[in-house]
Amino acid sequence: MDHFSYRDGRMFAEDVALDTIAAEVGTPVYVYSRATLERHARVFREGLSGLGKIHLAYAIKANPNLAVLRVLANMGYGADVVSGGELARALAAGMPAHDIVFSGVGKTREELAFGLDSGIGQFNLEHEPEGVALAEIAHQRGLRAPAVLRVNPDVDAGTHAKISTGKADNKFGVAIADAPAIYARLAALPGLALRGVAIHIGSQLGDLRPLETAYASVGRLIAELRAAGHEISHVDLGGGLGVPYREGESLPSPADYGAMVTRATKGWDVELMFEPGRVIAGNAGVLLTKVLWVKPGVRHPYVIVDAAMNDLARPALYDAWHDFAAVAPSGERMIANIAGPVCESGDTFAMARDIDAVGEGDLAVFRTAGAYGATMASTYNSRALVPEVLVDGDRYAVVADRIAAQTIMGAERVPDWLT
Ligand SMILES: *Cc1c(COP(=O)(O)O)cnc(C)c1O
Repeated sequence: MDHFSYRDGRMFAEDVALDTIAAEVGTPVYVYSRATLERHARVFREGLSGLGKIHLAYAIKANPNLAVLRVLANMGYGADVVSGGELARALAAGMPAHDIVFSGVGKTREELAFGLDSGIGQFNLEHEPEGVALAEIAHQRGLRAPAVLRVNPDVDAGTHAKISTGKADNKFGVAIADAPAIYARLAALPGLALRGVAIHIGSQLGDLRPLETAYASVGRLIAELRAAGHEISHVDLGGGLGVPYREGESLPSPADYGAMVTRATKGWDVELMFEPGRVIAGNAGVLLTKVLWVKPGVRHPYVIVDAAMNDLARPALYDAWHDFAAVAPSGERMIANIAGPVCESGDTFAMARDIDAVGEGDLAVFRTAGAYGATMASTYNSRALVPEVLVDGDRYAVVADRIAAQTIMGAERVPDWLT
């Protein structure tokens, strides 16, 4: 459920007409709904009620805009960060340091030190040498770093290969079979307060069974670690819950997920941690765009919109589907290809799609663009960096400026020796 719907034939975000935003801010522009973000944050938490003490760390890579983070901080969410830059954002948005979890397969020593100096709540270690480095840096400071070991359960999450993270051959975590020995060596280091394990098997999961299989493996690992004398107080179950990208598509709900987690973690006696990203932000945003031209194609016309793969990379990157809808539909339909202005055939959002009929100058949205949208934007083809707007009832604010191509160019230099 989201707050982008039609009133008198025009699409609104909450109580703001999208054509108003297009007129005042220009297009392309991402538009987020505060009410939808809050609703998803609430529904996800409710799905997990009955699990005792839990910790919710929003995976901020899904949408790291400061205003979005502030909304979620106000909803009691901490953050899962994967870089020093994300850590700085979480802190700047007012998330308490002790509610921040630091994941990521390539943390540098500088980033580990930044996390320690900020007093973050937990480091999710991806492999043994990282744990050794963190222990050294913490020991030098007279600290013990709270940490868990990320394990790779070798399950196929059944999602797109580029967002699958829990197969043995993926780069993440340590093989679950090797975990007991690695855990024992890391637990002995004075600079670490090792307290459990973490997993995250992939994103946009449409089936809970691979997750349940992975959680069962973690359950067996916890028992083995405890039998070896380790105190296991925290288990981080990661994120990955999928969202519907097509009208009518049905995915497991947070309540379904919560029921599975309750079953799978029965008797664990730990504080469970969660890292939802897409499920919070995905349906809380649209990419608002304008039709530039409609151009004949071999079989179907090309609708050329002013948004492109540099603004929304998911279709080019993962062959992802985003529903396309006119802001003021006429009721007519057309079969068309939808593409952006970038000079690559990959800059195509849809082929032979049945869509609202649109013509030059019409406004339209790509739905479900709130997660892995603006944050992946680039300035490829020397296009401006796409701005972001947050709607709250009948008001809205630009929460990220459009950064002009000229401004980006201003950071470049031609050395003297070329003149
Ligand atoms: C990306 C990521 C998440 C969030 O995944 P979603 O599918 O957006 O919920 C959670 N944890 C880790 C470690 C991640 O890398």
